[in-house]
Amino acid sequence: MKKITIAIDGFSSTGKSTMAKQLAEKLEYIYVDSGAMYRAVTLYAMQQKLISKNKFEKQKLISALDKINLEFKFNSRLGYGEIYLNNVNVESEIRSLVVSNFVSKIAEVSEVRKKLVKQQQLIGANKGVVMDGRDIGTVVFPDAELKFFITASANIRAKRRFDELTKKGDKVSFEEIFKNVKDRDYIDSTREDSPLIKASDAIEIDNSNLSLEEQFDKIYKITLEKIKSINS
Ligand code: C5P
Repeated sequence: MKKITIAIDGFSSTGKSTMAKQLAEKLEYIYVDSGAMYRAVTLYAMQQKLISKNKFEKQKLISALDKINLEFKFNSRLGYGEIYLNNVNVESEIRSLVVSNFVSKIAEVSEVRKKLVKQQQLIGANKGVVMDGRDIGTVVFPDAELKFFITASANIRAKRRFDELTKKGDKVSFEEIFKNVKDRDYIDSTREDSPLIKASDAIEIDNSNLSLEEQFDKIYKITLEKIKSINS
């Protein structure tokens, strides 16, 4: 059975990762959360005091890129790879609102994108991969056999992210999450390098009114049809 490449792009907090993880598990494909890589670089910049509310030492970050080593190590209990920054598991730390508030600034830097895109392409070189992000179907794997573009209203996305963070015990307000979602939408879709846009051959799914189960059934059905047509 020939394996394919599946790109899942879309706005922040649309549930792309949950969907991509489930799909990869069901197909026995590799799952890659490309956003985790941008978040880990952001965490590095924060640790090195290269970014804060009032400053961003972009050139220093560019010069330090060779010192940033990112790896996904498979966690069999979770069923997917967790991200390690210079050998430290940062999977949980990178999800904080502070990282979310800086990540889109870091993701605008072309040198950062170049490094991460190269690593993403290597991971997916043998196909059998489900990768989620913003530029997977347009830049990382423009030839992916299957591309999804996921949308939902900003209010619903912020509510989902708010529930997720408060469940973890983070002290955040709905208003600051909503602002973060809107700010990232704006920066991600208007940046010069690899803006978030729907690839012309991507299938768009608005999941504002779909349950997790309904949306999974929908993409799984489309995926099986695609794999069948490629293998026939
Ligand atoms: O997917 P997630 O919300 O974790 O991504 C965090 C941020 O990383 C996005 O808001 C975006 O700025 C950046 N990103 C990107 N390209 C990707 C994945 C994420 O620019 N492929």
